[in-house]
Amino acid sequence: MNTTSEQWIERGDKHIATTYGRYPLVAVKGEGCWLWDAEGKKYLDFLAGVAVNNLGHCHPNVVKALQKQAETLIHCSNYYHIPSQIELAEILCNNSFGDRVFFCNSGAEANEAAMKLVRKHSADNHGNDRFEVITALASFHGRTIGTISATGQDAVRKGFTPVVPGFKYVPFGDIEAMANAVSEKTCAVMLEPVQGEGGVNVAPAGYLQAVRELCDKHNLLLVFDEVQVGCGRTGKLFAYQHDDVAPDIMTLAKALAGGPPIGAMVATETAAATFVPGTHGSTFGGNPLMSTAAVAAMNTLINDGVLDNCVAMGAYLRDKLEQLSQRYSFAGDVRGRGLILGMKLDIPGADIVNAAMAKGLLINCTAGSVLRFVPPLIVSREEIDTAMEILDEVLSAINVENG
Ligand SMILES: *Cc1c(COP(=O)(O)O)cnc(C)c1O
Repeated sequence: MNTTSEQWIERGDKHIATTYGRYPLVAVKGEGCWLWDAEGKKYLDFLAGVAVNNLGHCHPNVVKALQKQAETLIHCSNYYHIPSQIELAEILCNNSFGDRVFFCNSGAEANEAAMKLVRKHSADNHGNDRFEVITALASFHGRTIGTISATGQDAVRKGFTPVVPGFKYVPFGDIEAMANAVSEKTCAVMLEPVQGEGGVNVAPAGYLQAVRELCDKHNLLLVFDEVQVGCGRTGKLFAYQHDDVAPDIMTLAKALAGGPPIGAMVATETAAATFVPGTHGSTFGGNPLMSTAAVAAMNTLINDGVLDNCVAMGAYLRDKLEQLSQRYSFAGDVRGRGLILGMKLDIPGADIVNAAMAKGLLINCTAGSVLRFVPPLIVSREEIDTAMEILDEVLSAINVENG
């Protein structure tokens, strides 16, 4: 007899750590832009594992690569050379500013690597008392002690103090505030080119270039956290490529392997040179299985027209969201880039997310009142139409309730 969703939820409630406020959905299968629950109900997935499933669920190229590699070699130590890890590093460097890549298993770990690198680079080149990193308010960099220290939101640090010292937070998009925050102790700036968790905030035009100039002036390393918006999400392979600017370090994770867990820190030769044997490491980082999946995912992203589809469908979805926003008094600003789009509401978004789920559309809400749309980059016009019909129904019900 099949276990029902209700039974799974009851069992999970007994033994799973209560770190997430989970929706009552038990996910058992995925294909393309669709997710199925334990009862066989089908959902259009516009959350995509929070921007992980950029190629949709179970993309055949990723599945095939995983199957073949699983039968050949799953894990071996980084004491040895790993061909798929080497191939993946080549793909990342040939398609970005980067020269060298450190592999790990998550976004937080990629940012930890970046924070260690900027401190060591500064210690090697400018002495020991220069360690501060400037980050943005409303940023999100992960959940480890180090990355909650970097994250510009008090809420994530509550109950976990003392955190790692040496971080300063400034309003995102405000170059004056950033310039004022630089001191003789500053060694780096870390920013998301588009803030994902903070409410889908795109860096204002010219901001990232101005930050680059500021960094050059004070010999600071510039880190872009592209964990959420890298790997095609914005319509270019990496989000920084929309602006005439390159960082010294970029962190990636989420979509890099098309679903399986992996993280990467990409750096210039100059920045990377500061890591030598013994300064950093990760048992699983860049293991054969995940690296092979990532090679397949990145090649698919680059060669199969996925970025073009992201640009076209991003424009289409944005247009639809703007039309909806104009029709509902409580809906406001539509923002984002490519297929990371947000709709700002004057009301909390939680009820809308729940109502959409009941009707078969998965979205979420960030920063309390910004509906976030991050569908797979392979999404079709018809799927967007279906999603927007559901959203329209949900929003019109709210309108009626509010009079
Ligand atoms: C998700 C995310 C992280 C953390 O990644 P994990 O894999 O959950 O550790 C870091 N930075 C950004 C911008 C993210 O969106």
